[in-house]
Amino acid sequence: MTNSSSRNNSKPLSIGLVGLGKIAIDQHIPAINANPHLELVAGCSPHARPEGVRAYKSMTEMLQAHPEIEAVAICTPPQVRHAIAKEAIDAGKHVFLEKPPAATLGEAEAIRRLAEARGISLLASWHSRFAPAVEATRDWIAQRSLRSVQIVWKENVRQWHPGQTWIFAPGGMGVFDPGINSLSILTRILSDTVFVQKADLHIPVNCDAPIQVGMDMMTDTGVSVRADYDFLQENEQTWSIFVESTKAEKLALHMGGTRLEIDGKLVLQEKETEYPGLYAHFAELVRNGKSDADFSPLRIVADAFLVGKRIVAPEYIE
Ligand code: NAP
Repeated sequence: MTNSSSRNNSKPLSIGLVGLGKIAIDQHIPAINANPHLELVAGCSPHARPEGVRAYKSMTEMLQAHPEIEAVAICTPPQVRHAIAKEAIDAGKHVFLEKPPAATLGEAEAIRRLAEARGISLLASWHSRFAPAVEATRDWIAQRSLRSVQIVWKENVRQWHPGQTWIFAPGGMGVFDPGINSLSILTRILSDTVFVQKADLHIPVNCDAPIQVGMDMMTDTGVSVRADYDFLQENEQTWSIFVESTKAEKLALHMGGTRLEIDGKLVLQEKETEYPGLYAHFAELVRNGKSDADFSPLRIVADAFLVGKRIVAPEYIE
């Protein structure tokens, strides 16, 4: 078993990637390769065979061939994540979960319990929390009382998720797949608990998950939070959060958290470096024998499905 208490922290953490799709190729492989404390040993995916990665058909095969792997990063669609995480934890591997941590809250909690029982490190990652302007937004909010928060998260599914049929299948979450990123920022910048009051879930007649969502939320101190998610956005893509204080001061977090404006003035704009930050965090968790598994963004999505009204939307054809 790989255990932080027994591992030699001077050698790089050896990692196996599970699921070699878009996010693994765009972000995980470069972030691991750029971090001297990490080593990418191998990957697995039923079909994908990206260049430069020793790839196996399944995690079982990968772990058999490479018992030296100490940690796995699970970058599959959410529907299969629980079974894979369970197998990895049973094998004593530390686990980095892509967002969302699982298809259901129950699965996510089961993974957390298994990790605790086995004494391995678990990271339920929320990459958007590592966007450069998120902590400055949190600090700004901490010094004020708020009137309202508004989330506008609108992107073109055909542009960003071509061929990803799992997104509209049960457990794929539809437009909440990107929308949960905004909720991961929301639950980081607000210290209050957020409740869903009302949600309109527009579900294409041929799909099982929403393509557009309008959602009203409230914090336990009475701040209203509105979220609008749209997967059919053409032209300009929008990933913004607007915050207004009770003194009418206005903060705007744009481009998924890379650009911050206060009262209309630009105060921060930086390149996105989310995955290097996430992997540095994961390496530190393993080094210190700790876990980070906050499921509050997933709870909000689950609550939206609990109280949401289903509205039939036109057929979606990619
Ligand atoms: P994707 O391009 O569809 O890739 C998913 C990969 O998982 C596919 O290559 C697929 O295999 C593989 N897979 C499916 N079942 C598997 C299994 N049982 N064992 C091993 N591999 C399996 O999706 P993605 O965009 O990378 O998204 C994956 C996750 O990352 C999602 O939860 C998503 O929310 C999250 N994420 C995505 C983005 C993004 O911009 N795309 C950003 C942040 C987070 P084959 O192709 O080999 O059949």
